[in-house]
Amino acid sequence: MTKYVYHFREGNAQMRNLLGGKGANLAEMTRLGMPIPQGFTVTTEACTKYYEDGRKINDEIMAEVMEYVAKMEEINGKKFGDKKNPLLVSVRSGARASMPGMMDTILNLGLNDEVVATMIAGNPDPKFERFVYDSYRRFIQMFSDVVMEVGKKYFEQLIDKMKEEKGVKFDVELDAADLKKLAGQFKAEYKEKLGTDFPSDPVEQLKLAIEAVFRSWDNPRANVYRRDNDIPYSWGTAVNVMPMVFGNLNDNSGTGVAFTRDPATGEKKLMGEFLTNAQGEDVVAGVRTPMPISQMEEKFPEAFAEFVDVCKKLEEHYRDMQDMEFTVENGKLYMLQCRSGKRTAQAALKIACDLVDEGVRTEAEAVAMIDPRNLDTLLHPQFDAAALKAAVPMGKGLGASPGAACGKIVFSAEDAEAWKARGEKVVLVRLETSPEDITGMKAAQGILTVRGGMTSHAAVVARGMGTCCVSGCSAITMDEENKVFTLAGETFREGDPISIDGTTGNIYKGIIPTVDASIAGEFGRIMGWADKFRRLKVRTNADTPRDAKKARELGAEGIGLCRTEHMFFEADRIAAFREMICADTAEEREVALAKILPYQQGDFEQLYEALEGCPVCIRFLDPPLHEFVPTEEADIELLAKAQNKPVEDIKALIASLHEFNPMMGHRGCRLAVTYPEIAKMQTRAVIRAAINTMKKHPDWNVRPEIMIPLTCDVKELKFVKKVVVETADEEIKAAGAEMEYEVGTMVEIPRACLTADEIAKEADFFCFGTNDLTQMTFGFSRDDSGKFLKDYYDKKIFESDPFARLDQDGVGKLMKMAVTLGRPVNPKLHVGICGEHGGDPTSVEFCHKIGLDYVSCSPFRVPIARLAAAQAAIKEMK
Ligand code: PEP
Ligand code: MG
Repeated sequence: MTKYVYHFREGNAQMRNLLGGKGANLAEMTRLGMPIPQGFTVTTEACTKYYEDGRKINDEIMAEVMEYVAKMEEINGKKFGDKKNPLLVSVRSGARASMPGMMDTILNLGLNDEVVATMIAGNPDPKFERFVYDSYRRFIQMFSDVVMEVGKKYFEQLIDKMKEEKGVKFDVELDAADLKKLAGQFKAEYKEKLGTDFPSDPVEQLKLAIEAVFRSWDNPRANVYRRDNDIPYSWGTAVNVMPMVFGNLNDNSGTGVAFTRDPATGEKKLMGEFLTNAQGEDVVAGVRTPMPISQMEEKFPEAFAEFVDVCKKLEEHYRDMQDMEFTVENGKLYMLQCRSGKRTAQAALKIACDLVDEGVRTEAEAVAMIDPRNLDTLLHPQFDAAALKAAVPMGKGLGASPGAACGKIVFSAEDAEAWKARGEKVVLVRLETSPEDITGMKAAQGILTVRGGMTSHAAVVARGMGTCCVSGCSAITMDEENKVFTLAGETFREGDPISIDGTTGNIYKGIIPTVDASIAGEFGRIMGWADKFRRLKVRTNADTPRDAKKARELGAEGIGLCRTEHMFFEADRIAAFREMICADTAEEREVALAKILPYQQGDFEQLYEALEGCPVCIRFLDPPLHEFVPTEEADIELLAKAQNKPVEDIKALIASLHEFNPMMGHRGCRLAVTYPEIAKMQTRAVIRAAINTMKKHPDWNVRPEIMIPLTCDVKELKFVKKVVVETADEEIKAAGAEMEYEVGTMVEIPRACLTADEIAKEADFFCFGTNDLTQMTFGFSRDDSGKFLKDYYDKKIFESDPFARLDQDGVGKLMKMAVTLGRPVNPKLHVGICGEHGGDPTSVEFCHKIGLDYVSCSPFRVPIARLAAAQAAIKEMK
């Protein structure tokens, strides 16, 4: 029989897959003798079963839950619904990988009218009565919202109405009688909306709450978060049921969140926030701006001393920075959660290096600790130093997530998305953010909030996304409804420009120019270590010397793909190229192409210079010709004039180039089959550029790699290769030079994979073009599939975009087949990938596993690929 429930005393940190991160760590902290309210975890397998059973908790699981409720009651000396000593619990989600704020939590569960009366009767303090009713109304509100999906807003409206009637501004000014009345109103609201009474039986409340947490695994924001963070849907979430401890009991109580190192900078110091007389949600939701953790020492010296000790032990135990939630009830400390803390990329690098210097971690472990996706944020722009010096901040919040952002102000997540869709850069300004805002937060350059601290929702989520965020700027007077706020005496409306600095927390009027980030220090150390471990080489996809230089700075070891077509669009060459397209004979075409040759040769020389002797792989013309012809009437007339042909003839030619499926049309090496003179011209340009470079730099190893795109048959490759080889040999001979070169092919059509043993006989190298290979394997247009893929995510057919993350089961199988078929035929064959997947961490790992020689990706993803390649090698070593 499967065991679906574990007491905290039964688990440990290794049981993360079954108990989720939170459950496994609560068990581990229990094992370490830390003060944990003793409860239990319902496993992730129970979640899977819930979905298998048609979103129901079956009787067997529920019976096991009840067994553990009885154990919990015994250990804590309190009982559900008891007349003397009632037990209240929290019900919290906890998946294998931490997904902060994405799923649901229910606090104060177990309250009903009788329990409330019992609690009040047992404590004559009028403040206690207020506390009980406050907890009760919170519970009804949370349960109705989270479990029964009655909108929060109905309850908020009732609170606002009550405050108005009483003439007060804040919730805390409502007294026990007001809150009692509110609890009654809330229950009436519940009945009106759902047609049934609010459930008073704690066991029923518990069952519904556990189901709600399981259900929340599938809510839209969790689905988006999983897709962004490569977390499989099949994992499911566990549920943790824990006796409540009350940070909102009185002024001798409180609650907080802390990190053992600074999650923004990585500095080794206890960092955190604390609120007296509050429940955890108040800190995280950013409803009140909390005080720094150091002030806790003054208020609760004993609990603070114990907490500091716990922090030290946890860090030593997990050998990583910890993020903890805790509560103080009547002066006594309780730990509610610990996990490896989310951190900025900067902090991640510093912490990993410091842990190595402290002798806590090995270099390999340090490399394995960094999330490659996170590195992206380090490469994001910062404010131009001179412009920043000249700018005067008009306000300051907390520097919650580093980086620089500027854009037009929007006031809602929906607006952020809509404005981004029409090409605007926006900064999302909110009173506070909530998990529903996630897609809007993603759409924004930066996020500015009025409320909330470093651990508020906005701060945590922004750091995770690498988006700049300034939180808790309480000097802002906000009117979200009318889309206006004031700060430092100025009024800001929707669309006004603003700049924010997520490192210092400064806020500026207008747009401050930004510059690219510079990379040094810990980044270099980690990358140096990564390079020691990785087997895969990392190249870059670059068509310009500028991109190539950037990629070299970021560690690229060569160019894996230079798309030559981009070079034809520049004003000085497009005319000649159009002439070539309009030519009637091969001779005319050669005349037109001869005009382009010097430009191409110049382009390639610059690339060879930028690469300083590292390999440069140049791909021959790939897109269908119709992409190059003019569409505007005036341009067509100009072309006709230049060609000395009637406009009608040009129009007829353009029409003749039209294709129903251009991506499966006359493109790639098919162009060279029809017009070998294009391949000839490109070969001359490559070889001449290489010879010139070699002459200038005799110590460089210049060995041109010529790549033929879109091959589907060995005879096709043979035909084009013959053109290339004859031309190249002629050029080399004419120059009196000695030079080796390679002719390889892109592998981007399924048939090329299926016949790779034939193709390898003619190819010096293979390079997987997984953009086209994905398109052709799925039969999904790479340009249009975005329109319907969302339905595939919603309907759980796909978990991720196959154009972003390699489909290992299908496309990957073809790649593996091509490698396995190709290598034995041609032992010298080298194999790489240059589709977008070459910079995606999980895809890089796959490329390592199937034994590719290199991955090639866009310049800014080079460090990500280096790290991912190292991690794949380290994983294999283990
Ligand atoms: C590919 O298809 O993966 C590729 C790299 O080529 P392109 O994106 O230029 O078609
Ligand atoms: Mg392609």
